[in-house]
Amino acid sequence: MARKKKNQKNLIKDIAIQRIEYLFRLAEENYGSSPQRSDRYVALARRIGMRYRVRLPSYLKRRICKDCHSFLVPGSSSRIRLHGRYMTITCLKCGKEMRYPYKSENKIA
Ligand SMILES: [Zn+2]
Repeated sequence: MARKKKNQKNLIKDIAIQRIEYLFRLAEENYGSSPQRSDRYVALARRIGMRYRVRLPSYLKRRICKDCHSFLVPGSSSRIRLHGRYMTITCLKCGKEMRYPYKSENKIA
């Protein structure tokens, strides 16, 4: 069995992450005109992540509902509330609440 070089593996993961980020950008751009299409884009992004075993970057993870996997847009399809050290993101489609640790001087891009 041929062993894949480590560099090559990393390259594939890099490309996978680039594609995921691109799909999220498309989801963002299309949300205004077609929210269903955005859900489809993030579903594809999730699938790429699973296929290549890459974790979604945390700032993108917060944009998907853990339960119904829809694209979350703060103020439109999700609600964000700060509770001390936690940030609670509520999916307005299924009502699922997700908690993420929150630091005031967090570098959120
Ligand atoms: Zn949901």
